[in-house]
Amino acid sequence: MERNMDKYQCRCQYVYDPAKGDPTQGIPPGTPFADVPETWVCPLCGLAKSYFLRMVGTPTSEQGRPFIKVKVKCFTTMVKADVCDYRGSTEHQVVEGATVHDLVEKLSLPIEALKIIFVNGLEKDLDTILQDGDQVALSPVTGAM
Ligand code: FE
Repeated sequence: MERNMDKYQCRCQYVYDPAKGDPTQGIPPGTPFADVPETWVCPLCGLAKSYFLRMVGTPTSEQGRPFIKVKVKCFTTMVKADVCDYRGSTEHQVVEGATVHDLVEKLSLPIEALKIIFVNGLEKDLDTILQDGDQVALSPVTGAM
């Protein structure tokens, strides 16, 4: 029987390669993605298997998918010099279809500190897909904006 040895990619750009498996979670080399248990998670970001997409060619970031622009504000411990602060929005590019999670990773912000996410003034979560022109605010403090 033909085994599907396609690579699958997480939203964080991690690529599952069946030829390598994932020894960190006991997945031996040669395991097709379909045979990876549903309990398996991305070894880089912890997203569930269901978030993975079959990879076509090179990783999506290099695939020529259109970029969108979002504006980002960061508060207190989320502030990162030259990346985002509380004074004004800093514009950043992400690929179309990127989530708040992708943005936080791309900017290397401390995701473990992140408590509240606002997109265009409405409270959202890490899985929210960003749209061109969105205003994103990231805060480590609940209810203090
Ligand atoms: Fe991931």
